[in-house]
Amino acid sequence: KTLSKEEIKQIMQEENVQFLRLMFTDINGIIKNVEVPASQVDKVLDNKITFDGSSIDGFVRIEESDMLLHPDLSTWLIFPWGVEHGKVARLICDVYLPDGTPFPGDPRNNLRRVLEQMRDKGFSDFNIGPEPEFFLFKLDDNNEPTLDLNDQGAYFDFAPVDLGENCRRDIVLELEKMGFEVEASHHEVAPGQHEIDFRYADALEAADRIQTFKLVVKTIARKHGLHATFMAKPLQGINGSGMHMNMSLFRDGQNIFFDSQGEQQLSKEAYYFLNGVLNHARALTALNNPTVNSYKRLVPGFEAPVYVAWSARNRSPLIRIPSGRGNSTRIEFRSPDPTANPYLVIAGILMAGLDGLKERQMPVHSVDRNIYSMSETERKANGITDLPSTLHNAVKAFKKDQVVLDALGEHLAQSFVDSKDLEWASYRQTVSDWEREQYMQLY
Ligand code: GLN
Ligand code: MG
Ligand code: MG
Ligand code: MG
Repeated sequence: KTLSKEEIKQIMQEENVQFLRLMFTDINGIIKNVEVPASQVDKVLDNKITFDGSSIDGFVRIEESDMLLHPDLSTWLIFPWGVEHGKVARLICDVYLPDGTPFPGDPRNNLRRVLEQMRDKGFSDFNIGPEPEFFLFKLDDNNEPTLDLNDQGAYFDFAPVDLGENCRRDIVLELEKMGFEVEASHHEVAPGQHEIDFRYADALEAADRIQTFKLVVKTIARKHGLHATFMAKPLQGINGSGMHMNMSLFRDGQNIFFDSQGEQQLSKEAYYFLNGVLNHARALTALNNPTVNSYKRLVPGFEAPVYVAWSARNRSPLIRIPSGRGNSTRIEFRSPDPTANPYLVIAGILMAGLDGLKERQMPVHSVDRNIYSMSETERKANGITDLPSTLHNAVKAFKKDQVVLDALGEHLAQSFVDSKDLEWASYRQTVSDWEREQYMQLY
């Protein structure tokens, strides 16, 4: 499946690829690009392209800034949308230090490291099926995003052709051209909100795909005069956008979460893993919901989780067990939102789950009724705790959880905390319209 250097060079000739886009992801989950002309291909394939790491958030200080990009040839892909003078291809890269070692501050390297630990424990694959949601807003005459949703009209029977549906269909077609297997694509609950689910893949590939997906969605939306946002809660009063993660763990081609004889046909391992995720849920929240705005989504009434609980039936809890069994037995983790860095989120969940497998404890029993209608006393009696309600509280929980800290390693954990502390400090100093409306005349 992975092409050789020679094959890549040949394809570039045949397909008239004029530019190579070398992609990697910073700590905030933002895709970074170094674009080089096709003439540089040998340098690219020999891992000789350098860039200044000090200009990337969460990377390094000025004095140690020279870094190298090692392209992962299995990620070779030609973008289906054309450019004027030829095609553009991309390669996802691992970031290396000049001494030839993987840079520990690169989220993708870190996920590789964590997956290695998983394999050392005898597991073969950690599969992830993501369900990213997003909003489409109209662009204004200056191509700036507005707060106008594109499909208000879709509520009426004889609405004109829905811009959003057309755009989503185009996105799906482009994704398929790029080798994505789109399993479902639908309008979400809120106006202007959409979801596209693609087939599960092993952790690293799944994280790469999530990043590519965001790029495709934004690019195609622009062509339709729309702005796609993965912000968690763009509008108050309607649903926010989540990125539910469906996960399963494999050993020798067998899904270890399935047991035909087990309770609800789930294995002991499934319960242990689930318990690990529940135990570390508060710390994982910092990774799953990494922006100030993420916490405006985690409120009652909008299908987003607020409490630490699980269910096989109900959709309100943090964790749900979808009905598929056999090799499609999976655990759905519902707190991640699409602002999350997928490499960090997956590393965190995996380490939390593996910790659960080590501890071998069964989770508290499932909650099959609506948690939102329970009183605080009832919740306590059922062993249900709260998810952190702010970025600040989530980062506090993160700092205290050694398993989740280890999932990032020292360098990434420290840059993550530094970056989030700054974000919180900046938010804390802003005075909002809400405050003026509440207090200006009252006091
Ligand atoms: N938008 C909801 C969320 O924030 C999910 C809705 C759904 O997929 N059922 O997670
Ligand atoms: Mg869904
Ligand atoms: Mg959904
Ligand atoms: Mg879901």
